[in-house]
Amino acid sequence: MQKRVLGATGLMVSEIGFGASPLGDEFRVTDPAEGVWAVHAAIDQGISFFDVSPYYGRTLAEERLGIALEGKRKQVILATKCGRYDTARFDFSPARLRASIDESLGRLRTDYVDLWQAHDVEFVDARQIVEEAIPTMREIQKQGKARFVGVTGLQLKVMTGIAERAPVDTFLSYCRYNLLFNDMDELLTGFARQRGMGLINASPLHMGVLTEHGAPAWHPAPKEVLETGPKIVAACEARGFKVGDVALRFSLDHPYAATTLVGMSTVKHVERNIAAIECHPPAELMEEIRAIAAPVMNRWWPSGLPQNWDY
Ligand code: NAD
Repeated sequence: MQKRVLGATGLMVSEIGFGASPLGDEFRVTDPAEGVWAVHAAIDQGISFFDVSPYYGRTLAEERLGIALEGKRKQVILATKCGRYDTARFDFSPARLRASIDESLGRLRTDYVDLWQAHDVEFVDARQIVEEAIPTMREIQKQGKARFVGVTGLQLKVMTGIAERAPVDTFLSYCRYNLLFNDMDELLTGFARQRGMGLINASPLHMGVLTEHGAPAWHPAPKEVLETGPKIVAACEARGFKVGDVALRFSLDHPYAATTLVGMSTVKHVERNIAAIECHPPAELMEEIRAIAAPVMNRWWPSGLPQNWDY
């Protein structure tokens, strides 16, 4: 497992990051014991970057990850988030964020996180993130409760607009660079690279679209995108490949993103995803996938306040 530097933070993160939202039963009900084994298997096999949020499972994912990391905290780079607490409950006020970090640290059974991120910033007025959230997060950073500060979201222009006015250490972008999307490079990568801001690329499986199991019922992508997933699965299978391996390998090849966050809650998926590092799909298969994906490439869905939409 390669480690790569996360922008100017200097943090060395594993190229595959453990996305902990499935530990909060975001995709389906999972076995808590299996979740702990998955975290331990990941650490044993070199995955050192873990990402979670109080939003995932409405605190369940943080609770479970905290239990799994007991005695192992120093072996990992741990990221969590603040400001999003339910599907439609956002609160980036200074008082909420000050309470939020202490609540997260309690659930995660640690006294600091390596990265603390404002979660899904497109859902509120960007001014609040610039004027209240990031200054409060910097204050918490000075107290030693968070080593670095970042923003996350689906909409990319609002994140760069925020970072222009209130510099951040990292960006987390999801579903904008994988086999079905590539506009992260147009809208975010250059900005982050020029400023030395770290880049985390999440959801290489397009939140389940690029799996044999398929997308969860809540998936927000348009129908044509959801229907394209099984066609890509079939193209991979016809050449003897698993779609998850091909999709993850594609994301791992990004030249600037330090880590690709894939959601996991089972040992089987941890082992499969680590094996994907050695997957080398032939150019013909990648060409075939490009052709299948072309009609729906970068097919976007609204998220957050209309004033923050990229298109
Ligand atoms: P993903 O694309 O990683 O897909 C996860 C789904 O794929 C889950 O159902 C998982 O069980 C399944 N899966 C994983 N490995 C598999 C394999 N080898 N074969 C078949 N199925 C497999 O989507 P995600 O979980 O949403 O994204 C990854 C992580 O990124 C999240 O857990 C979270 O930590 C982070 N993220 C953050 C934000 C944000 O901050 N706004 C948004 C999305 C994701």
